[in-house]
Order: sequence, then C-alpha cells, then structure tokens
Amino acid sequence: MSNLIQLMYISRATFKPTSAVQGIEPNVARILQSSRINNAKVDVGGVLFYGDGHFFQCLEGDKAAVHKLLERLHRDDRHTDVKIVSEKPVQVRRFEDWSMKYTAINDSINLLLAKFGFKTFNPYQFDTQHFNALIDTLERMNQPDEIIDGNDPKKSSRKAPTRADNERSGLVTMGIIALILIVGGVLVTQLM
Ligand code: FAD
Repeated sequence: MSNLIQLMYISRATFKPTSAVQGIEPNVARILQSSRINNAKVDVGGVLFYGDGHFFQCLEGDKAAVHKLLERLHRDDRHTDVKIVSEKPVQVRRFEDWSMKYTAINDSINLLLAKFGFKTFNPYQFDTQHFNALIDTLERMNQPDEIIDGNDPKKSSRKAPTRADNERSGLVTMGIIALILIVGGVLVTQLM
C-alpha cells in the first residue's frame, strides 16, 4: 500500500536577505542545493517558495521520509515558527518531476497576492483558499520566464534553459557567424 503524503508548512526566515545572485538569495540557494541532493536520495519532492522573509514549502513523498525531513526542518535555525498548514495522503504527486522546484516572488505571485488583497507575502495571514490558490500557481509555473535560474527538474527533458544557457548559445551562434565571415573573406582574397 502506498504511503505517499503531501505536507505543506510555512515558516519565517531568520536571516536578513542579501542581494540575489542569478535571481536567488544566497541563503536560499544553499538550502535548495542540499535539499535537492538529500531529497533525490529518499524520493521526496515538492516546491519551495521564498518571499518577503517567509517560506512556503510543499513536500511530497513517503510518509516516514517526509516526517524524518520535518524533524531536521524543526531543528534548522535558518527559519523559525514552522507551522504545518496541511498534511494528507495523496495518490499522485503534483511535483512529480522535481526534487525541489523553487520560485521567488514574480508577476504571477504578485497578481495572486493582489487578488486576495495582500501587499506582501505573509502566509501566516493565509486561509485554506489562499494556500490552494498558491499551490495551483506554483504548480503551473513551469515556463522558463517564470522560474528562476538554477531550477533542475529531476527529468532533464523538462529542464528549462537558464539565462546562462541562452547567453552561451548566443555566443556560439556569433562565433559560427564570425568563422563563416573569416573563411569567406580568405576565400574571396585568394580568388582575386
Ligand atoms: P548538513 O551536512 O548538516 O548541511 C548541508 C548544508 O547546509 C551545508 O552546506 C551546511 O553548511 C548548510 N547548513 C546546514 N544547517 C545550516 C544552518 N543552520 N545555517 C547555515 N548553513 C547550514 N533539507 C532537505 O534535505 N530537504 C528539503 O526539502 C529542505 N527544505 C528546507 C526548507 C527550508 C525553508 C529550510 C530552512 C531548510 C530546508 N532543508 C531541507 C535543510 C534542512 O533543514 C537541513 O539543514 C538539511 O536537510 C540537513 O541536511 P544534511 O544533513 O545533508 O546537512
């Protein structure tokens, strides 16, 4: 029998946000890095959202594995006031492809907050309807312009190109054009 559960919690970051590097706060980047390594080993997945000094995380996986992680989360001093907002058995994962998807504040989230009359992201003011709308929005965000650099779905076929990837492919294209022009120039000179 499947012991798959979905657990959602909120918490307050204890660190002062520093400038984002490639769209991600450095403390959050470190959390994401170890999350993805650890979660992949125990087949836990989900989504992490960080905004305005607050976290929202949805964890999906075997009940024992999620609860073991929860114990570590309670001990982690990078956040505080951990509050579980929902825990339920599920048949399917909503974030199947992700060891930990990540999203920061973006236009879609700002629209959602505005719709509910919130000026900032403070999930301690949310009710069930707000959390359901948030998780729907986070699940839908898989367009490259809506997710930040560094996201890495478990399935590489769905990997979104990062800004660095785009810059690299732009440079390669320019290099090829330059090479064609040089070779063409040399050939024309020799023919004349
Ligand atoms: P360690 O080897 O103890 O540490 C892993 C890395 O994190 C190291 O680089 C270490 O320097 C750094 N680190 C650990 N604790 C701290 C600290 N208090 N301050 C600064 N740096 C620290 N872990 C998961 O495995 N999966 C998750 O989905 C997950 N989500 C998280 C969400 C939030 C909001 C937060 C705050 C933490 C989350 N973590 C998650 C981290 C978790 O709380 C534990 O720190 C981590 O699981 C410990 O893993 P480890 O034993 O491999 O780490």
